[in-house]
Amino acid sequence: MSGIKPVRRWQPAFYPFKREKFHRRLLAKTELLIKGPLFGCRMCGNCLLQETAFICPMECPKGMRNGPCGGVTPSKRCYVDETRRCVWYCIYERALKKGREEKLLEVLPPLDWEKVGTETWGEVVRQIQKTGTAKFIKDILSKDKDRKSKTWDSVFKTIRQPDWWQGDSDYHAPGYQEPVSELERRLRSREFVVATEVTPPLSANVEKLAKDIELVKPYVTAVNFTDSSSARPRMSSIACSKVAHDLNVEPVLQIAARDTTRTGLQADIVGVNELGIFNVLCISGDSTKVGPSPMGSMNLLDIDSVQMLWLLRRMRDEGIYLDGRKMKNQPKLFLGAASSPFAAEPNLQAIKDHKKVNAGAQFFQTNIIFEPERLDPWLEQLDKRGALDKVHILIGVAPLKSYKVAQYLHMKVPGIFLPENILKRMERAGDRGPEEGILIALEIIDSIKNKKGINGIHLMTLGWEAVVERISKDAGLHP
Ligand code: SF4
Repeated sequence: MSGIKPVRRWQPAFYPFKREKFHRRLLAKTELLIKGPLFGCRMCGNCLLQETAFICPMECPKGMRNGPCGGVTPSKRCYVDETRRCVWYCIYERALKKGREEKLLEVLPPLDWEKVGTETWGEVVRQIQKTGTAKFIKDILSKDKDRKSKTWDSVFKTIRQPDWWQGDSDYHAPGYQEPVSELERRLRSREFVVATEVTPPLSANVEKLAKDIELVKPYVTAVNFTDSSSARPRMSSIACSKVAHDLNVEPVLQIAARDTTRTGLQADIVGVNELGIFNVLCISGDSTKVGPSPMGSMNLLDIDSVQMLWLLRRMRDEGIYLDGRKMKNQPKLFLGAASSPFAAEPNLQAIKDHKKVNAGAQFFQTNIIFEPERLDPWLEQLDKRGALDKVHILIGVAPLKSYKVAQYLHMKVPGIFLPENILKRMERAGDRGPEEGILIALEIIDSIKNKKGINGIHLMTLGWEAVVERISKDAGLHP
């Protein structure tokens, strides 16, 4: 490990898809020889090093290009491979040390695979020549910070933000007035909202699914359908959402970046309004590492969850496809994202969540929370950043059915942590497990109900749909 590259494991470099000219191949080899050991560069050909504290984010097994996923372990290791540190955590730490954390807000583009495996230095030289080599050197050496950063950006931002992406660090308010869904309407009118999750079936029969949807229908505003959670295939979220819509229940379509390509995402979104789907939750999705064997690709995502938000927001508000084609009719979307408030220190976690809000997230559904008091510093950080009043937050609450379930969540599910006292309560409860689990959930709801910035709960029943009625009534959330 060099002193500069903080992640332990060396991963192989990418190669171009077509044979390059000799001088470009030579340049690429030289670039790899220097940037590899120094920065962990894998020659993605779409270099972002200036924005990622000079640590290559392509060492993340999920290929996240816009910040960490929610699965960082408590010791800040990568949940896909615990023998190494989370590369994004390293990027955040270094950016913070150098006072460059605001740089992390820029929404960075997905890979342009035309460039993968090719050199980038040639492009830098061409851009410098365009700006004027003498001017570039003079400005970069200048003491005037503004001038320096303007000239730097004229070269590097032009390269990393191609015309088809144009990502930035700013907030973009939704470009429409009337709420597109009941979930959005209620959240805007400051009601304390209850959403839940119904587990998609394992087979092609929707009888049980319909029964579960009917069971929760009177008590919730919207129902989420997971997109093959834990990388285990089930009925698709789109199909379940359609079933819910036909039963007059408002669906939240979950889309996991893990199984999504940029083409597939845009195609699906053009069609979902026709199926009565307007709420869309963009998540990165569990790595195939936590799924069953044989394991699917553990390498790069085509598009990460922040990029999904940016792309869908632009389709909705600007009516453009990623390739720049104009749409005649824009999709109506209420866009959501997942948040894992305890995955990193509150100030770091708030950077990632702020970025999601800027990219287009209008609501958050958080990971399951068992320590409500730990939410305060995270909410304060979001508030400090001016992001809290731009997003509606639904806190993930799960009634535990048994000690076994509690242990499973704690040990096996990335990003979920149960404190010792809850584990002990569930262990002591024995056969009274379900009742104790409900009591714990009610206590959590009670303590978050009046927190500033929290707009509702997302009840994750883990297949125990019948509990929604009891919790919603006992928590006083059912009028
Ligand atoms: S997969 Fe998640 S935990 Fe692992 S390096 Fe990437 S962002 Fe970090």
